[in-house]
Amino acid sequence: MADPQICFDHVTKNFGSLRVVDDLNFTIGRGEFVSLLGPSGSGKTTILMMLAGFVNPSSGAVWIDGRRIDHLPPHQRNMGVVFQSYALFPHMSVAENISFPLRMRRVAKPLAAEKVARVLDMVQLGELSDRRPSQLSGGQQQRVALARALIFEPSVILMDEPLSALDKQLREQMQLDIRDLHRRLGLTVVFVTHDQSEAMTMSDRIAVFNRGKIEQHGTPREIYDRPHTRFTAQFMGETNLVQGVVKSVSAHAATVECLGGHRIVVQPSDATSVGGQVVVSIRPERIQLGSQAGDGQNVFTSTVIDSVYQGNHLRMQLDEGALGFFVRSDRRFEEFRPGDPVYASFRPADCWVVAG
Ligand code: ADP
Ligand code: MG
Repeated sequence: MADPQICFDHVTKNFGSLRVVDDLNFTIGRGEFVSLLGPSGSGKTTILMMLAGFVNPSSGAVWIDGRRIDHLPPHQRNMGVVFQSYALFPHMSVAENISFPLRMRRVAKPLAAEKVARVLDMVQLGELSDRRPSQLSGGQQQRVALARALIFEPSVILMDEPLSALDKQLREQMQLDIRDLHRRLGLTVVFVTHDQSEAMTMSDRIAVFNRGKIEQHGTPREIYDRPHTRFTAQFMGETNLVQGVVKSVSAHAATVECLGGHRIVVQPSDATSVGGQVVVSIRPERIQLGSQAGDGQNVFTSTVIDSVYQGNHLRMQLDEGALGFFVRSDRRFEEFRPGDPVYASFRPADCWVVAG
């Protein structure tokens, strides 16, 4: 990493006897957009609150810009925080809401007005500065919360599921807006979400959390295409998982015998060895269906059991002949119906061994 800015060093957090964050070691680079992705209860908010200063670690250290901060109060950390609930004051205008932290710190009025105008401009709310929160849409209110987080010109912005209260269309627009703001301002963003597609859209890097531990971190592409564990493979979108035993391994391929006797050729991982029990992940959109066999390495004759039209794709369930896999197909040429015989094929490069 070129310029590490935030570092968790063996950070653990217990609430009573419950270990919520378990020996976290993780570094975030300056200017990076990192998402903490995981199911509810996996410890994401607690980690963010330890960065913001509202929760103290039980053990370990948190560093920012080479300074140990885990025992500093929140206002000495210079971080902007945005929560799911906007927490705006209903009786104040947009401008007053945003300048509130400045008034608390007795920043002179002309300077405060200048700062407010600047952040309103950043989030494109300049015209709405006199409105009350109740006169704004959900998306606009979230922009006000964002502007308020930016007012002290923090180098780090923390966001905890900020878009989850918005409807789908607005949420997707805000995802692009926040990503754009991140790029324009060169901010470091730590973004908490349980929504894998949101994390994929926005992040330079995703850390997948499971029970207080990082399962895997990497670019969206690495996490989706090369999941290390069953949990990551399933949490990052849909997948087919199949269990088997490794029969042979070479530099670029391994053969796995699955339950039921099918053999598939897979992409070996470092840990793949002959005789090992493995689980193989194959994404449903990487499986090709056809009425002719073709000449790939993994070709199975099967029958379509079920086919559901979902607008931009078909979701099809195959029988045991193709390991009971399900398939997402955007084929417009050939549509298979329940009972139709098909050849299912997939490339070894798309069969990824995850921890068994
Ligand atoms: P997430 O944001 O991933 O949903 P949290 O960090 O909020 O997860 O919570 C992780 C676990 O810690 C949950 O089981 C939650 O109930 C527990 N927890 C969080 N805050 C407290 C607290 N102040 N006291 C006791 N338990 C807590
Ligand atoms: Mg949370």
